[in-house]
Amino acid sequence: MLLIWGLRVFYHTVSQGTFHCRTCGGDRHYRRRAGRRFVTLFFIPIIPLNKTGEHVQCMTCKTRYVTDVLSLPTAAQMQAALPAGLRAAAAAMLQAGNRGSAAARQQAVAAIQGAGAQGYTDADLDADGAQPAEAVRSALGEVARQLTPDAKEWFLAEIVRIGMADGPLTDSERRVAEMIAMDLGMTQAQAVGVVTMAERAARQN
Ligand SMILES: [Zn+2]
Repeated sequence: MLLIWGLRVFYHTVSQGTFHCRTCGGDRHYRRRAGRRFVTLFFIPIIPLNKTGEHVQCMTCKTRYVTDVLSLPTAAQMQAALPAGLRAAAAAMLQAGNRGSAAARQQAVAAIQGAGAQGYTDADLDADGAQPAEAVRSALGEVARQLTPDAKEWFLAEIVRIGMADGPLTDSERRVAEMIAMDLGMTQAQAVGVVTMAERAARQN
């Protein structure tokens, strides 16, 4: 009888979830798989040999990636980061200024809704204002990883406009704007530039 020996890698799934597949361009289901080489007899694994390492496979287009791909944010996470960052920053600005001001609150709600959180209301501002400083910093860190330099300037200008909705920036509002700029990874010169432009625009209105 002829014995058919062979050598083949067999995979098993270690975990699964959602990741962003850059090949087929979207948030997709993935399988994280670990492989092991086997000696086969009649195509059946008989003797286990070495492990071959793990990979991540897109279940839609079947592309395989190194496991580092799982550390990248999904599109859904990116979409959530912007309103979350804006909420945290707007609440910090309101706390620094006059948080009873209807004009400032309206400006904050409009900015947050404009960033994609359509259901956001005035009542949510108070809940966001109770966030610990650590939560604000981590939300800003998340958004900073994803925004381009231009988008960071836009983000900061949105926050500065909230501070100026009820009059010129106070010292504590200015300090909050500088802190937010720092958490976004902007230089002080960039931050001053954004604040100056916003103040100039407000004077012209
Ligand atoms: Zn894919």
